[in-house]
Amino acid sequence: ESAAGEREAVPAISLEGVAKTYRTGQESVTAVSGVDLAIEPGEFFSLLGPSGCGKTTTMRMVAGFEEPTAGTVRLAGRDVTDVPPNRRDVNMVFQSYALFPHMSIANNVAFGLRRKGVADGEVKRRVAEMLELVELGDRAKHKPGQLSGGQQQRVALARALVNRPSALLLDEPLGALDLKLRQAMQLELKRIQREVGITFVYVTHDQGEALTMSDRIAVMNKGAVEQLGTPAEIYERPATRFVAGFIGTSNILTGPVTGTGERARIDFGEGRHVHVRTDAAEGDRIDVTVRPEKVHLGSAEPDAELSRLRGTVREVVYLGSATHYTVDTADGTEIVVFQQNASGAGNLAERGGDVWLSWRPDHSYVLPGRS
Ligand code: ATP
Repeated sequence: ESAAGEREAVPAISLEGVAKTYRTGQESVTAVSGVDLAIEPGEFFSLLGPSGCGKTTTMRMVAGFEEPTAGTVRLAGRDVTDVPPNRRDVNMVFQSYALFPHMSIANNVAFGLRRKGVADGEVKRRVAEMLELVELGDRAKHKPGQLSGGQQQRVALARALVNRPSALLLDEPLGALDLKLRQAMQLELKRIQREVGITFVYVTHDQGEALTMSDRIAVMNKGAVEQLGTPAEIYERPATRFVAGFIGTSNILTGPVTGTGERARIDFGEGRHVHVRTDAAEGDRIDVTVRPEKVHLGSAEPDAELSRLRGTVREVVYLGSATHYTVDTADGTEIVVFQQNASGAGNLAERGGDVWLSWRPDHSYVLPGRS
């Protein structure tokens, strides 16, 4: 075994049992309840969840703007729970970039370095380097008001990176941009993160954004982490009903288990069934998921080795590269199907048509515990 293999990598950021309860007068709100996370150096890590789930509060505790009610925050192994924000080696970027409007772009970026008393030549060199990084080298003398929203956000990023923090915290930084610009900036942010190689922690409620950019994602719900994993793990194997519903579109089928082991399934009668792999006992009600792009739709009866259901097409939405179908099954479940469109092929079914739905047994997952 190599020495490197034995060495424990120290996480860039770790949270151990971190909780936060806000008290205002008589009221108390638990924003974060017992979060454990270890974020690796150089990782692009996202906190993803719906509004109010505690993402921002978690981030503010890492930055030091908020003091945890319980637990420990560590940066590179050092306990910083009681260390003020300006003495933590992290920087934060917000949705509102708050640039100084009367200062040039270069001076906005230079501001923090000058305040720290960094020598003039060094300031110039680092500012130029940062403006190159965010592809605004030719805008150094402009004022923020002369730049687009996306460009201003890149200035804010340059300003946050120029101090060379060991981690950058970004709280919905693209929230104010329109969709096209946001998508372009997602790729841009990812490129910049790769180039500078520092840890990024990214807060978003947008699952597409988190899936596109992250090495790993923590999906939060009601102040707790519901699932932690790579985008593919979270998308393909949602651990809870909440995650299945929040990330992308999931079909969820419910019913009692028939048979055991290899032959376990939910049986809907008349040749309709969903194969499952489960430890559940016969008769237990379970929830099974299948993603819309895994479901095939057609008129011919599928092989019985496949999971298969019958239904009536309620809605057909043609989107160019794909068609989305909503099918009401004979068992009262609504199943959404995403069909990729090969060139020239028309829709596979029309509204009101009776169809078979089928998918491979290994494309279904049993969700833990009924909720
Ligand atoms: P959003 O995406 O809407 O910003 P979030 O996931 O970032 O949501 P938080 O801002 O962390 O969530 O808020 C979590 C909970 O804590 C919410 O119920 C919120 O109302 C509450 N909360 C946040 N800040 C405070 C505060 N300063 N005082 C009291 N309650 C607060």
